Amino acid sequence: MDCLFCKIIKREIPADIVYEDDEVLAFNDINPQAPTHILIIPKKHIATLNDIEEADLAIIGRLQYTAAKLAKERGFAEDGYRVVMNCNEMGGQTVYHIHMHLMGGREFTWPAG
Ligand code: C5P
Repeated sequence: MDCLFCKIIKREIPADIVYEDDEVLAFNDINPQAPTHILIIPKKHIATLNDIEEADLAIIGRLQYTAAKLAKERGFAEDGYRVVMNCNEMGGQTVYHIHMHLMGGREFTWPAG
């Protein structure tokens, strides 16, 4: 399967990995939009949010759990942070393996652009 993030999981292409367990991998985004910008991905290939199945619910929970854990470790959990998951073209998705953006270390505005 020609998926960029699956290749990162298999160490076929490099990434700055910051966390890994049996189900998820997290690495620094190569084009950070905040002082901390980490992508948290499931090891299972799921192309878009629309492709999540009931059997995947624990994995999706683990993405959010990992985001909060990393935010706490980095010291910005109390101040606040942003998590984003983009879906399909109009949602701004460019890599078709679901990923949670964890951004922290600056103030975010709303609505998102
Ligand atoms: O939500 P979206 O699909 O646009 O996000 C993809 C993200 O993957 C981008 O923030 C991009 O900088 C990041 N990326 C990366 N490493 C790569 C390719 C893309 O961190 N090798």
